[in-house]
Amino acid sequence: MTTALSSLLDDVLRRNAGEPEFHQAAREVFGSLGPVIDRHPRYAEAAVLERLTEPERQLIFRVPWTDDDGHVRVNRGFRVEFNSVLGPYKGGLRFHPSVTLGTVKFLGFEQIFKNALTGLPIGGGKGGSDFDPKGKSDAEVMRFCQSFMTELYRHLGEHTDVPAGDIGVGGREIGYLFGQYKRITNRYESGVLTGKGVGWGGSLVRTEATGYGTVFFAQRMLATRGRDLDGARVLVSGSGNVAIYAIEKVHQLGGTVIACSDSSGVVHDPDGIDLALLRQIKEVERGRLSEYPARRGGSAEYLPNGDIWALSATTRVDVAMPCATQNELDATAASTLATHGVAAVVEGANMPCTPDAVHVLRAAGVLFAPGKAANAGGVATSALEMQQNASRDAWTFDYAEQRLADIMANIHDSCAETAAEYGEPGDYVLGANVAGFVRVADAMLALGVI
Ligand code: NDP
Repeated sequence: MTTALSSLLDDVLRRNAGEPEFHQAAREVFGSLGPVIDRHPRYAEAAVLERLTEPERQLIFRVPWTDDDGHVRVNRGFRVEFNSVLGPYKGGLRFHPSVTLGTVKFLGFEQIFKNALTGLPIGGGKGGSDFDPKGKSDAEVMRFCQSFMTELYRHLGEHTDVPAGDIGVGGREIGYLFGQYKRITNRYESGVLTGKGVGWGGSLVRTEATGYGTVFFAQRMLATRGRDLDGARVLVSGSGNVAIYAIEKVHQLGGTVIACSDSSGVVHDPDGIDLALLRQIKEVERGRLSEYPARRGGSAEYLPNGDIWALSATTRVDVAMPCATQNELDATAASTLATHGVAAVVEGANMPCTPDAVHVLRAAGVLFAPGKAANAGGVATSALEMQQNASRDAWTFDYAEQRLADIMANIHDSCAETAAEYGEPGDYVLGANVAGFVRVADAMLALGVI
């Protein structure tokens, strides 16, 4: 990193003290940008990076709600509207007790580049709350969502800011949030939220899009080394939205996912994860993975607090897909995967690999796809949902899936070509950061100092 970039990064870290995940995301992007800033001094002259690292707007608000016992509870809500030069702020809402302003800023910052990579007209934002939907009744989740939206609605709009789901926010929560928005504004503004039910403005394939897209990316990346997913043995961490549909697509393409996880443990099923059972437990019953082996039978086992990546030391694994949460795959895990011949690590989650893990994988020649490229299929299909809402249209599943597949192929190729252009073929981190940055930076130059 040049001295100028490094001092700019120091400034960003100092101005955003106590936000380690945002620091991590900023460090990673700055680490890639040296060559592009050198080649195009106009970006530095217009203080593009100084502006890009400062959100256009950061909202923090109180969310009071009443639980089923009549007690008043208070959570904190966030929305960080990071950058809107390419389109309305776009990015999901995360409901999880670990959510802080720093988490939302890291996710929002990543989202700027991810959204730019899709080639679609969407800016970057992210939001959420430290509310924990786990263990809450539907009525409690509804009251929370209504209170959250009662504050947030004034900042949203189909041309202004368009949230979607993330950890802890799925179809149920989007329904309650959209219902309250509609009620307060007295407008059926479908394009204000994405991830809606298909019966009321949602797009087919949006639910599947992040997981499917991650697998499409993996497929194209493996092809650069003459490999594919047919016959591949795969580890997928997590068992939420991204993980479930990554598993489904791997199976459709002839691979076998032999393990998945939740925050309490790991299921190892050498015959391949039974997706119908997994969905019944996680999506329908909102239960725990520990229930899986007894209901599955055979040789499936549950490893409480297990390390999913360590399975590669005892059984053949070709591809690893971290699809749970940030920093879930560290240098030790990366080294186990690399030593045992894993060909590719593809991030379905946002920033699931630590910087040290990425370093280990790259040094060992393991193909590595960063989340901002590999998991962009979710937000891309959200933009396709907005397109359908705007034209009052509804596409078929096959058409929407083909659009997703094409977008993922373009993202892959644009990362690969950009990496090669900057002299680092196969470096998808560099390719994603630079390709995303250039699109946003050029728009910032065109729109003037705003
Ligand atoms: P969900 O809430 O649907 O699922 C999250 C899953 O991860 C759950 O199975 C959860 O287990 C598990 N999990 C959480 N923490 C850990 C941990 N420390 N170790 C193992 N498992 C853990 O979220 P999503 O699937 O939507 O999101 C997953 C990731 O993908 C996030 O990083 C998100 O930002 C990213 N992403 C999501 C997109 C989307 O469209 N949904 C789009 C792009 C990225 P438990 O049930 O125990 O909590």
